[in-house]
Amino acid sequence: MSTKSLVRLTLNGQTMGTRYSVIAYAEPSMDVQALGRELHAAVTDVDAVMSNWKADSDISRLNRAQIDQWVELPESLIHVLETALAIEAQSMGAFDIGVGAAVGAWGFGPLAEKIASGGAGPRPVTRETLELDRTRHRALKHGPLSLDLSGIAKGYGVDQLGDVLKAEGLSHWLASIDGEVRAGGPKPDGTPWTIGLERPVIGKRELSGVIEIGEMAVATSGSYRQCREVGGRMVSHTIDPATGTPVAGKQTSVTVLAPTCMEADAWATAILVDGVWPPRGFPAPSGCEAIVLNA
Ligand code: ADP
Ligand code: MG
Repeated sequence: MSTKSLVRLTLNGQTMGTRYSVIAYAEPSMDVQALGRELHAAVTDVDAVMSNWKADSDISRLNRAQIDQWVELPESLIHVLETALAIEAQSMGAFDIGVGAAVGAWGFGPLAEKIASGGAGPRPVTRETLELDRTRHRALKHGPLSLDLSGIAKGYGVDQLGDVLKAEGLSHWLASIDGEVRAGGPKPDGTPWTIGLERPVIGKRELSGVIEIGEMAVATSGSYRQCREVGGRMVSHTIDPATGTPVAGKQTSVTVLAPTCMEADAWATAILVDGVWPPRGFPAPSGCEAIVLNA
């Protein structure tokens, strides 16, 4: 099929406390408004299911649920929880969705006001405490868990945008939510998309370089964004699950390239906890590449 007739569409809106945006090339006959509605519905659904900021989300319901009681959940959430537990195991616990209370204790996320500051105390191993029943779409907590999907849900949301675009038969698009990106095929002329890499400096927006992607996902986690000062030092919203304390000290950014944005998002958080590429604390994830920048 000739790509000459394709028109460039840009569609964007709000989700997850930030913005999503899509650039796609489509035939002029494409119903752009319908496409926009589908994209919006896809991310709105992810937010409604996975947001820790919404008391009526499915993840909040699971957090509130009684111990040892099965909770029915949407299939999308089972899939993301399953991926999160697998990455927790592969990263030797560097990625751990059980850090919700610790995130709040250090003044970040929806629990920031509700939890006493300066540490959240001991907690069980998430992957040993959360049982998933894939066939019956349900989960059970064997102990208290404070699950936080902020390190993976945005990436999953980007993948969902991608699924809508693929289902419409589009093969030249770039979808993103707040810097987590996925490309589904190059631009119509065959050239790759250019993604800027930010220099990891607090309070500044400087470009450190660019990467080019054709069909790939990219996510960045940085200890220089979303920081606050605690006792005279800057701490970030990324928690080292081994200690329950924030990644601190260096200003670092980790950009991961992976086949899906959900994987890229979670691995960027895990590698930021480890601090170097290739990681020292766990085997490098297969199919992923990372770029670690220090200020
Ligand atoms: P951003 O939201 O800026 O893209 P990340 O993808 O790195 O950043 O996600 C960071 C969020 O993930 C934190 O705000 C917190 O809610 C959660 N989180 C913090 N530490 C971890 C961790 N070690 N494993 C999993 N999730 C984490
Ligand atoms: Mg992440």
